[in-house]
Amino acid sequence: MIESQYLPQKVYVEKQSFDFPLTKRILENLSQIPIEAIENPRDLIENIRISRNIREKGKTYLLLTRQKGEFVKPCPCTPYYIGCNYFIINLDLNCPLDCTYCILQHYLSNPLITVHVNLDDLWRQLDVFLRRNRAGILRIGTGELGDSLALDHLTENSKGLISYFREKRNVILELKTKTVNIKNILKIEPAQNTVIAWSLNSRRIAREEEAGAPLVEERIDAARRVAEKGFRVGFHFDPIIRYPGWEEEYGEVIKRLFNAVDPGQMVWISLGSLRFPPSLKTIIKERFPSTKIIFDELIKGKDGKLRYFKPLRLELYKKIIDLIKNWGGEKIPLYFCMESKEIWRRALGWVPKGQESLQAYLSSPFGPLKK
Ligand code: SF4
Repeated sequence: MIESQYLPQKVYVEKQSFDFPLTKRILENLSQIPIEAIENPRDLIENIRISRNIREKGKTYLLLTRQKGEFVKPCPCTPYYIGCNYFIINLDLNCPLDCTYCILQHYLSNPLITVHVNLDDLWRQLDVFLRRNRAGILRIGTGELGDSLALDHLTENSKGLISYFREKRNVILELKTKTVNIKNILKIEPAQNTVIAWSLNSRRIAREEEAGAPLVEERIDAARRVAEKGFRVGFHFDPIIRYPGWEEEYGEVIKRLFNAVDPGQMVWISLGSLRFPPSLKTIIKERFPSTKIIFDELIKGKDGKLRYFKPLRLELYKKIIDLIKNWGGEKIPLYFCMESKEIWRRALGWVPKGQESLQAYLSSPFGPLKK
């Protein structure tokens, strides 16, 4: 397995963040990298934002600062489509990988790879959040505003998160990644309510549109090792992208996945097709002039995002669902990210009655965890 781990060119540390244990751990793990203390992260962010190649430059710098607001938030999902009642922990912001379609290019005004180091506040806020949400099953993850494991060789946050949630019996923690940065995971006793999940795509899309990410076969191999260790694993085929030959190439990945990873360890597979706000199109065109993904036939959905015309989305989903079922995934909960009721009904044959019914469905492999 090839591991190419992120190393920044420089670390900026907010002066008031030096004493946090997480800051010390990261700096120890980056002992060869220049460090600069800064008074105010806002000024640094503004300076980077007025420079050329903001996104490229931002990824070369690591900023250690405090989360001054809430760490835990509901996943924003998208209006008018079925949400999956997911909560996100804003621990790391931004990602060292560089996928053409990445929504963070549009969503985050801060281009630096940023780690929030005030973990005491995180645990305190989580305690309060979980006390308020004792009634049902909760799914929570760190992989919405960054990649859950891309910085784990520096932060080692996976260990703390898995340990914190291990005894929280009504919570399912998901760490979602495209990397093979699993060294820490392999050292931890598996927790039955933790899911390590990989975003997968066809080999061509991974190669052409997911710069810096390991090959799909390496991701699958990492998933195999983590599943063999005893962790539950999940997969996200998202964004599924159409191109001549997509059926065959997605089929190859699904075959490889089921040949490598025990379906009994897989707790969910989500599907989502290419979608993005129109303003991201301009950014993609400018940053990735050779990509073709934005020039397919796209329509504006109810949420204002560009996406494939419904019959094309249905065709993609039906084919991929058939492939998953044929290769041994009949019992694995499948769900859509940001899709309409009609797509659920026509592609999966049912529509969740509400967020509770969706939670019950997605937590079904975790029967003993339920309160
Ligand atoms: S791995 Fe995810 S967060 Fe990172 S660049 Fe790709 S899409 Fe964005």
